[in-house]
Amino acid sequence: MKTTPGCRIFFRLLLALVAPAFLSAGAARAGEIAIPSTDTYRRLKARIDEIRIIDTHEHLTREDAYLQRRADFLADMTHYVEADLRSAGYPHDPARDKGPQVQNTALPFAERWALFEKYWPEMSLTGYGRALFLLVRDLYGMNLDRLTPGFGEELNRRIAATRRPGLYRRMLREKARIDLSIVDVNSTDVDRELFAPVLKFDEFVQIRSRRQLEKIAESSGSGIRSLTDLENALQARFEKAVSQKIVGIKSALAYSRKISYPLPPWSAAQEAFSAILHRGEVTEEAALPLQNHMMHQVARRAERYQLPFQIHTGLQTGNGNRITNARPTELVELIMAYPKLKFVLLHAGYPYGSELATMAKCFANVYIDLCWMHIISPQVTRRYLSEYLETVPANKISGFGGDYHFVEGAWIHAELARQNLAWVLAEKVMDGYLEEDQALAWAEKVLRRNAILLYQLPLN
Ligand SMILES: [Zn+2]
Repeated sequence: MKTTPGCRIFFRLLLALVAPAFLSAGAARAGEIAIPSTDTYRRLKARIDEIRIIDTHEHLTREDAYLQRRADFLADMTHYVEADLRSAGYPHDPARDKGPQVQNTALPFAERWALFEKYWPEMSLTGYGRALFLLVRDLYGMNLDRLTPGFGEELNRRIAATRRPGLYRRMLREKARIDLSIVDVNSTDVDRELFAPVLKFDEFVQIRSRRQLEKIAESSGSGIRSLTDLENALQARFEKAVSQKIVGIKSALAYSRKISYPLPPWSAAQEAFSAILHRGEVTEEAALPLQNHMMHQVARRAERYQLPFQIHTGLQTGNGNRITNARPTELVELIMAYPKLKFVLLHAGYPYGSELATMAKCFANVYIDLCWMHIISPQVTRRYLSEYLETVPANKISGFGGDYHFVEGAWIHAELARQNLAWVLAEKVMDGYLEEDQALAWAEKVLRRNAILLYQLPLN
């Protein structure tokens, strides 16, 4: 459309009336798209950089164990990238390969590097790929988009040079400006200055064999001969976990079954339990009444101990999984059964993020956690953040969890999260939807305040 000068002036006047913030941003003119390379973005980003993050989801094991490992870029840092390499065609035979070949340190580094080098160009532009590219560029000064002979070995040398005690504090506290990370590492033996643990109770739910019952009996030190014994073992495990000061519980069952848990009659659960005990093993379908019953037992205890329940929803890491198993709406029945239990649905339920928004809007006990999202797709994450700001009360959203196995990943992920928040909020300010101080207050809640309140963390 052609515009006359008079028309442009009219449009500017109109904007000045309806959206003062739009013009005060000083960058967007009539007809221009609000591009966040503006003063508004820069101002917001500078303030968001100052927020000390509470990171709601990581898998970082102890620093001493990490430092003892020989620096190996492929074994240590291909984490999510490995799934995209495999998706691109990188050979993996589950029957033969024990694990991902590029990460298998029993194989020579050069052999693994040749595999990486072949498939990396195919997936280097995915969110996982870009996060790794930025990490290598900004931490080690090397360009993964320009691979040269000896690149991998040189990168390993530079990584090794950073592996000194205090690495976790330098990466998390100083570089990423994260005060505390909630970790899911199957242990409560964590550095409490940096981490707060959640524990999974999935082994009490996903039962279909006598061997699994025996394992629970071994670890709990009492025989499991009835459903009541199993419930008592679960109770003992909860009491122990609470005494070890967990801040929540977690379930990752979306990796192996549909996350709908209709409550069966007690007799059906009892029947499934007896069948397992007598037959040794039953089908997944025959075990469902017991599994669903036990999930309600877990939820009931989480509610009683006021422990938020983090549940994996949406995309599963790795390859070969069923996304529909992880659809957040499958949880509605469980959510309605425990109105006082806070359900934290992880990974924004990607790609069901909009369905999750309606659930968080509808149920007071449903919370959204965007952990992992900023590296799955920065663009979708911005879309979700923009949508959530408009649809979901501000106290229901946790905006960052690194969800990495290696501490360096948590740092780059936090940087990407700060950029995404600043980008979305700059657009909202320039759209005239809110003021800058409201944008900053929202960012502070989403990156810090909400997690402190939700997990009852001893921080300000
Ligand atoms: Zn995770």
